[in-house]
Amino acid sequence: DLRGEVRSRAVRHGANRGRAPAPVIGELTELLHQVLAEAERAGLWPAGLAVAVPGLVARDARTVVRAPNLDWRDTDLGALLPVDFPLTVGNEANFGALAELWLGDGTARDFLHVSAEIGIGAAVVVDGRLLHGTRGFAGELGHVPVQPDGPECPCGGRGCLEQYAGEEAVLRAAGLESDEDRVGLLAGRAAEGDEDVRRALRDAGT
Ligand SMILES: [Zn+2]
Repeated sequence: DLRGEVRSRAVRHGANRGRAPAPVIGELTELLHQVLAEAERAGLWPAGLAVAVPGLVARDARTVVRAPNLDWRDTDLGALLPVDFPLTVGNEANFGALAELWLGDGTARDFLHVSAEIGIGAAVVVDGRLLHGTRGFAGELGHVPVQPDGPECPCGGRGCLEQYAGEEAVLRAAGLESDEDRVGLLAGRAAEGDEDVRRALRDAGT
């Protein structure tokens, strides 16, 4: 709710990489209906819907311009997700930064929020406001080339930060494979003194 309390929750885990937007949004709509039904039973009504996506979102706050790890581009989520209350589509790192800004305990008014899983996202908060940038892509750190002649990236570029410091890249460099709790696996092996893991982490940090 508007105080930041979770009033209802519905979760579905799944790997959506390479899936077309329509079936994914269809599943999301089912979850949405569950939450709306539960809210109605509790005497609550929706003030709006916010959809966090791992990708670039246009300033219209409804079009996913590019989501390399989903392989979505120029996707109008507003058309796929018709709701009769306000819809805001945003980058997940930006939403994370706003949550920290609004609900965090004594958060600074100027900070960089970095969110790293398979992809690496970031959001810039300046003087208590989220920086959007000219096209809405401010803070998109994961696809900044750190080695111009590095490996190809799904975004079409080469040598992006994600190719060196994303979870999958670090696992690969450490000679490991896992689809779940990659960070836990890496942290555990590093704590045990696994030299390959420690080198992979050091290289990613560099
Ligand atoms: Zn890239």
